Amino acid sequence: MYKQEIETLPLRKLRKLQNERLVQLVQRVYAKVPFYKRQFDEAGIKPSSIKGVKDLHKIPFTQKAHLRDNYPFDLLAVPMKQVLRIHASSGTTGKPTVVSYNRQDLRIFDEVVARSLACAGAKKGMKLHNAYGYGLFTGGLGMHGGATKLGMAVIPVSGGMTDRQIMILQDFKPEVICCTPSYAQTLSEEMIKRNIDPKSLAVKYAVLGAEPWTEAIRSQVELGLDVTATNIYGLSEIIGPGVSQEDFEEKGSGSYVWEDHFFPEVVDKDTGEPLPYGEEGVLVFTTLTKQAMPLLRYWTNDICSLEYDKSGKRTHVKMSAIKGRADDMLIIRGVNLFYTQVEEVINEFDFLTPNYQLIVSRKKTMDEVLVAVEVAAGFEHTNDVYRKKLVEKIKNTIGLTMRVQLAPMGSIPRSQGGKLQRIVDQRK
Ligand code: ADP
Repeated sequence: MYKQEIETLPLRKLRKLQNERLVQLVQRVYAKVPFYKRQFDEAGIKPSSIKGVKDLHKIPFTQKAHLRDNYPFDLLAVPMKQVLRIHASSGTTGKPTVVSYNRQDLRIFDEVVARSLACAGAKKGMKLHNAYGYGLFTGGLGMHGGATKLGMAVIPVSGGMTDRQIMILQDFKPEVICCTPSYAQTLSEEMIKRNIDPKSLAVKYAVLGAEPWTEAIRSQVELGLDVTATNIYGLSEIIGPGVSQEDFEEKGSGSYVWEDHFFPEVVDKDTGEPLPYGEEGVLVFTTLTKQAMPLLRYWTNDICSLEYDKSGKRTHVKMSAIKGRADDMLIIRGVNLFYTQVEEVINEFDFLTPNYQLIVSRKKTMDEVLVAVEVAAGFEHTNDVYRKKLVEKIKNTIGLTMRVQLAPMGSIPRSQGGKLQRIVDQRK
């Protein structure tokens, strides 16, 4: 554990810390950020009425559109002179949002990433193969800073150039790799193609995030790279990677949210009402300690649930794997669908690989999904029995009849380093 005392702080003490931090935060943003003063005044809320996290529900949400309206620097709570770094989101869903950090923010960023890496199995003295993109995207530099803080040797490979990545894995012998799960799939396939035994590498742990993924991809990557793969979650608006992390010995039970810095809530996606633990909804964060660009109740649009794990090593709350972004949800004949649901079904068949795409089209007024999925080595994509099995399983599990097309190995696009688009929308 990187910081045992804070990671195992009894819940009562954690709440006290969060409450103190929130009270200060609210006073500060009300005084320093005109947008928040307006938000409070218009909602008729006095900053003094926020006494702790139990009062958070009174505060209006901050949405991505608010960041865009205040582009690029109007949400700063410190003078521009104090800003030491500026990042932007990847822009997956439109114009990127801009985020600024002062010295303390960068210190916290390093701290939460160091905690996350340790939680993923990494240790001081190991080497990190950092295949997240460097640049405006927070992934590369974010992981870099945290690994340095933990005492790892960072290899700043960045994304892409798969030949070079494999050479570095073989020659530099890093024990830890971080990248998107789809790029880890690409790497593990390339290893097979080149007949490289993953056991000949030193890599033991893979820290994967920046896009939704399921157990299907975990199995493929763990086998292909001979690693223990865990989930790291984050978003630039809150800090970058390192908002939450799955423990390498508690796989599948969710990712610890570092809630001394980022207070999470899950709310109903339609009404915004806070939901009880265990219920699925939109994840919302309040940055308790950020200074340059703190956010209150930021609507991430990511769908998951929260739960305390009494048998876990740490006291912080766990979030479930992200099902998808609310705006990536498809509505097919009245049924809500995330691509990860199809990925989970694919996982149940040995004759399929998690290389797939959902092609969405519109016939008259009806939206339709075609699942294009590659078969595993040794299986025939022309065999109709396999296709029918998948159609049937999707129907029974998701409740929708989808067209399925089995594809030969290598025919579905792979990640070249970054996030992979699994949905091809032909409706536009
Ligand atoms: P963009 O929204 O432009 O992609 P970011 O690069 O900041 O901006 O990415 C943050 C988003 O990436 C999150 O809101 C979430 O949708 C997704 N994401 C990040 N980590 C994970 C993860 N481990 N699992 C699922 N989705 C993730």
